[in-house]
Amino acid sequence: MPRIVILMYHIIASPKSDQEAKYCCTPSEFAKQMNYLATSNYRLIDLNDISSILKGELQLKSDAVAVTFDDGFEDFYHDALPVLRENNIPATLFMVSNKTDGFNDWMVKKGSPKRKLLSVPQLLEISKNNITIGSHTRTHPKLTEISSDLNSLNREIKESKVELENKLGLAVNHFAYPYGLFDELTINVVKEAGYSTACSTRSGFNRTDINPFLLRRIEVFGKDKLWHFRQKLKFGTNEMSYLYPFNYYLAQAKSRIIDRN
Ligand SMILES: [Zn+2]
Repeated sequence: MPRIVILMYHIIASPKSDQEAKYCCTPSEFAKQMNYLATSNYRLIDLNDISSILKGELQLKSDAVAVTFDDGFEDFYHDALPVLRENNIPATLFMVSNKTDGFNDWMVKKGSPKRKLLSVPQLLEISKNNITIGSHTRTHPKLTEISSDLNSLNREIKESKVELENKLGLAVNHFAYPYGLFDELTINVVKEAGYSTACSTRSGFNRTDINPFLLRRIEVFGKDKLWHFRQKLKFGTNEMSYLYPFNYYLAQAKSRIIDRN
């Protein structure tokens, strides 16, 4: 069964502090990664394709990769969009609907540097370049902390869709859980709101039997070099080491021996 890797990025810029380094992929590393993807054998798809594949409307014949960006940092416009365009790579950008033209206040509260988020005109231009805009709630809360209050949950999940649709004049069909946090109620509200997919931060490959509201993603970290990136695609895991392939194949070989017995 072909496998889909959904990559997750946050900031495409040099880190301003140690705290955010994990989430900052430098423009030069990002360009190397996208150049690699464009010349690889992976089929490059987006979340609309994934939704069609999971509904059985589109057939996937080979392993595929989708690229996603969380939070809507302004650096996307300057440093990611040109690289994606150049390499003809589709992507999905999850925007915090109430923070257009604002900044990452939910991160600043925890001591991260202040960074500007995309404006509506920038989002409109981005959306004309094979980039799908998805929702990442209205204000980036931990949904599991507010799920006892259905009104808050509706505001963050349903209203964020409507807010983005009104601001952009585009359909918003995909959602990403902030901090990767969700529970049963959250998932139900996402379904009810009319989204067709939702991305988690659980790692691993997506196969055609995956729950479309619990899509798995592989995070690309700031420290990742191209060999990490290539291994992440190959093995569908976040944590990479030189020993990972060795242990992976050893475990496979062991399971084959056990199968035979
Ligand atoms: Zn986020």
